[in-house]
Amino acid sequence: MSDTLNYRALLQVALDQARQGLEEGGIPIGAALFDANGTLLGAGHNRRIQEDDPSVHAETDAFRKAGRQRRYGDKIMVTTLAPCLYCCGLVRQFRIGTVVVGESENFPGGLDELRDHGVRVIELDDPDCRALLADYIRAHPDIWNEDIGEAD
Ligand SMILES: [Zn+2]
Repeated sequence: MSDTLNYRALLQVALDQARQGLEEGGIPIGAALFDANGTLLGAGHNRRIQEDDPSVHAETDAFRKAGRQRRYGDKIMVTTLAPCLYCCGLVRQFRIGTVVVGESENFPGGLDELRDHGVRVIELDDPDCRALLADYIRAHPDIWNEDIGEAD
């Protein structure tokens, strides 16, 4: 696995997806799947609102857009937000080797669990990812609580 990749450049693809989601009226979380050389395989964003489909998370969207891959150990899932339990399940099920995380402050996700299972987790602590989602949560706390399964 190359360590010369510019993970911030990869994150920019996911962040562009998150912004696109916001423009569509959705929750601004984006993701993208890359191969070991940093070639983009697929990108996507949360479309709970747009598609009325709670199963379309950024990571699952990017994963599906990437189509069939022979193996995933050499793949890199880049996401603007720490992946939830559902998306951590996806990473573990397909044994995606590396997860790059924009931020884990708005939502801690399952990063420790991923690490415990041998997934390489790279946290970038990116202020743009954090601010984009924090602004959205402030404006739409009801939708956010629904998305993380904590609605009343
Ligand atoms: Zn998720």
